[in-house]
This record gives sequence, structure tokens and C-alpha cells, in this order.
Amino acid sequence: MRMSEEDKKKKFDKQRKTLLKTKEKRKSQRPLVFELKIDTSHLNKEEQIKLKMFFVEAKWIYNHVLAMENAFEYDSKSPLVKVLNKDREIEERKLKYLPAKNRQDVHNTLKWNIKGLHSTKKIGKKVGKLKFKSEYTAIELSQYGVTHKITGRNRIKINGIKRYLIVRGLQQIKSQYELANGKLIKKPSGYYIKLTCYINITSDHIPRIKNPSTGLDFGIKTTITTSVGEKYNISIGKSERLRRIQRKLHRRRKSSKNRYKMQMLLRREYEYLNNCRKDKANKIVSKLLRENQLVIMQDENIKGWHKGLFGKEVQYSALGTIKSKLQKSKQVLIIDKYVPTTKRCYTCGNMVEIGLSERVYHCDKCGLTEDRDIKTAKTVLYEGLSSVNYIPIPTEHREITPVETKPLLQTSGCGASIV
Ligand SMILES: [Zn+2]
Repeated sequence: MRMSEEDKKKKFDKQRKTLLKTKEKRKSQRPLVFELKIDTSHLNKEEQIKLKMFFVEAKWIYNHVLAMENAFEYDSKSPLVKVLNKDREIEERKLKYLPAKNRQDVHNTLKWNIKGLHSTKKIGKKVGKLKFKSEYTAIELSQYGVTHKITGRNRIKINGIKRYLIVRGLQQIKSQYELANGKLIKKPSGYYIKLTCYINITSDHIPRIKNPSTGLDFGIKTTITTSVGEKYNISIGKSERLRRIQRKLHRRRKSSKNRYKMQMLLRREYEYLNNCRKDKANKIVSKLLRENQLVIMQDENIKGWHKGLFGKEVQYSALGTIKSKLQKSKQVLIIDKYVPTTKRCYTCGNMVEIGLSERVYHCDKCGLTEDRDIKTAKTVLYEGLSSVNYIPIPTEHREITPVETKPLLQTSGCGASIV
């Protein structure tokens, strides 16, 4: 039986109302994302095939819709898609595994992408084209209770697979969290479910903070130096395992099965190293934000570093991740990249030319002699505190003003006053 026009309108209105309600509720909540690993060892053959084919079919749909003249006209109810086969000929295939709701979501994601590109183009930015995918790695689970559901201590049920899946990591989700959408993810190391939860923001929780403010210097040798002299080295280089796999890979015959196996191992190792890097970045960022009320950093051009001299070192360090995480925080103040923080002396304002390899900074005017990186971090702190666009945090939390910090910054052995 088909729905009448009136019923359709009613349904639409109801949907809109719940959407607005949720939007209002989310204002007093913050999201948390948990990654749960699916334990595939207990799945039977059929279930393993299903899980694999979900991603294959999602890819088919994506590419099929992208090849259509009007991507918005695709009917997700139809089970037929056109696919290029091995000989690059068009072939019609029938979708068997991916449930209708997920098919619709693949289509919706693509529609959003197109709309996003369109609006970027509208404001005059250059945009590229959406490309065909050779692999689809993230399937939307758009509605908790419909597409996915927690059914036990370590069990999640997803739409399309009859039996529950056993997952690792569910203990992180507390009962007061509100469960929302998720994603089914395929990685070299296996399948995962990323689950978004919302928790209410409570205003009575005020964390204890040690320092009122700190300046940061990003470098190549020791990746981060703070103005109190803490140094973090966060570079994670190639592992011995990675080298070994790379060596083996080169010895395998091209397009052989063994070579493919090695490639898979290689991707897995890269994923592992990336996770290590991410973990380090997370820990350092949370430590910096926990211990300091205000973090000041300089807007340096990491991309430039990438291209130039330090490509490899930058690639292996978590610097980019750390910077982008810090930039999102309200506790962080960013000073202009053209401020000469390396050259300027923070006690007398003198400019000293210092070479890339010199590790110690010495100022002729006031006699300041200090480790190069710590000196730069202190200059960043000083410049930040005395800049005009001062402090994004509320007044009652301020403990110091820029004027007060001047004597605070003078270290022993440096007697000159600020001119
Ligand atoms: Zn000086």
C-alpha cells in the first residue's frame, strides 16, 4: 500500500520536529567517539563473506551513482548496479548483502559530498572532481537502534547480519552516555565499529591547572619545547619490522599473490605506526591543556617544512596532528608566523642572528645565554601575552596580565630591564 500525500507530509513534519529537538539537545552535550574492534574469529564463513561484501557492494553503489548523469536520481531500492569488471567492461550486478538502509546511506553520503563541493565552488574556491573508489572503507551506521545496537556486555548487532558481533572496547561506554550514529570501518588490521556517544556538559567540574600560561616552540630535533623547559620528543620512525617487510616486498614477483600478501602486511604496519603517533599526540596535547590555562604557539608553516629540508623528520613526527589538535582548543592563542621569535631576545628585545645548527642563544646586549629552543618558547610566550588580541578565556580566570609577566620571565643571570 502506498502512502497518501497527506501521510507523507505528516511523516516529514514529524521527522523535522525530532531533528530540531535533537539539535537543541546537542548544544548542552559533547561528543565522544569510541573505536571497537570486531572479533572476526567467532564469525562463521557466511558472516565473514557478508561483512566483506558489505564494503564491496557499497563501493559498487558509490561508483555506479557517480557514473550516472544525475547522481540525485538514483533509486536505492533497486538492487541492480552497473560495475566495471576485470576487463573494464560494463556489467550489471545484483546487490545481495548490503541492507536497503545502508544503501540509502551510501547514496546520501555521496549527495552530501556533491553538495559540499558545490557550495565550496559557489564561494569562489577551486574544487576538484569526485573520483571513483577502488576501495570503500567506511559504511555509515546512521541510526542507533536501526542500523546498529548494543545487545550485551561485548556484543553489537548490526543490520544485515543476523547474529550479534563480538567487539572489544565496549567497557569504555558508560551507562549515562547517549548513543548515536556510528560507522563500520575496514582497516588493514581488521574491521571496526566507530560509535559516537554524547555526554552532558556539567559546569561544576573545574580542572586543577598548574601554570597560568606557557609558550611552545616546535622544532625538528626535539619536537616540542615549552617555556618552562620541558622537552617532548615525539618522532616515531620506521620500525625494523617495516624495513623487513619492505625488503621482502621488493623481492616478490609483481602482481603475484605473495606480493599482495606483503602489501597487506605493509599497510598493517603503517596503520600500527600511525596509531603510535596518534597516541603520543593525544597524550601530549591533553597534558599541555590540562596543566596550562593558556597555551601560546606560533602559526608556523609545517607544510613548507614538508617540502623542504626536513621532509622525513616531519613525516615521522606527530607534529601536524598535535598542531591541528591544539588549534581547535579555546585555551590556545596563536601568534603570527612573521614574528621573529627565534631571533628576538625576550628580555631586551634585541635581534640576534642565529644559525640553524647553533643550539645556544646568546644576546650581546643583555648577556642572556640560554638553550635555543627554550629561549624561543619564552619569546613566543612573551609575544603572545603582550599581543593586542589578548586571551580568549574569561576575565575571572585570568591570573596574570601581560605587564605582570615581564619580571616573571626574567631568568637569573639576566639583569637588564626591558626597554
Ligand atoms: Zn637581550
